[in-house]
Amino acid sequence: MTESLAYKTKRIIEHYGFNFKKGFGQNFLVDERVLDKIISAGEITENDVVIEVGPGIGTLTAALAKHAFKVISIEIDKTLIPILNRLLEDYDNIELINGDILKTDLNEIISKYPDKNIKMVANLPYYITTPIIMNIIENHIKIDSVTVMIQKEVAYRMKAKPSTKEYGSLSLSVQYSCEPYIAANVPNNCFMPRPNVDSAVIRLKLLDKPAIEVKDEKFLFEFIKAAFSQRRKTLVNCIFSSKIVKLDKEEIGKLLVENGFDEKVRGETLSLEQYGKLADAFLPHKTE
Ligand code: SAM
Repeated sequence: MTESLAYKTKRIIEHYGFNFKKGFGQNFLVDERVLDKIISAGEITENDVVIEVGPGIGTLTAALAKHAFKVISIEIDKTLIPILNRLLEDYDNIELINGDILKTDLNEIISKYPDKNIKMVANLPYYITTPIIMNIIENHIKIDSVTVMIQKEVAYRMKAKPSTKEYGSLSLSVQYSCEPYIAANVPNNCFMPRPNVDSAVIRLKLLDKPAIEVKDEKFLFEFIKAAFSQRRKTLVNCIFSSKIVKLDKEEIGKLLVENGFDEKVRGETLSLEQYGKLADAFLPHKTE
């Protein structure tokens, strides 16, 4: 009988005397079926260079290496490096980097593989999900897709549509640059140790060009952030109190009406296209 992943993980942890560090979001995947789902959702092929965030003890890393041209894994916890070197020694297509993903220059890695598709695949440390994804979106990092295990609630926020309780600035930022697809819901008993939240595997396919065209992308994101800065407040109040434009409440309301919106409209009801239209209309009044 083959050894289960849960048993194997426990054996490795004990053998190396490894102590889980909560601060690094260390919840290792111990379910083979979920592992297969991540690989198939990522559609990993021999032409792919995969950037993996946080290999842990290399479970996903090894599975990725079997399908990809190369896997580049970035792990912050230096105590895992000797363990990973040992456990992954049979693979010649894995590069291990001891570092912080938030301080890693992804463009430098990507520039070394001009003929390959670059994909990010990871069971992410949940405390840095948003900064990792926003870095890719805001800096237009040339990645084909991002397939990641994240907190379920965050995955559904990324995919949410207007007028739902999950809809917010994250939904809009993600959908501006990506097509999100939820590949699996994953209960907390698929991890060791078990996290307090349920998880989901989401694939974000980066679009060739943004879903809408605007005059100033940075201002669009600022406008969206302002619109969701105070839940249950009208857009007029949110835009006014965020001070992103040099207009008083009356002038903001007037500009909304001129663009075909109700003066009392709320940010959570507006689509990405409508945000694009409003960001362009408010741009000439932007605070310097
Ligand atoms: N990939 C393994 C798995 O699926 O079992 C481990 C996943 S665990 C949820 C997250 C991993 O990310 C841990 O190994 C943790 O040490 C690492 N990590 C946490 N913060 C990191 C950071 N800023 N940069 C790189 N790795 C990080």
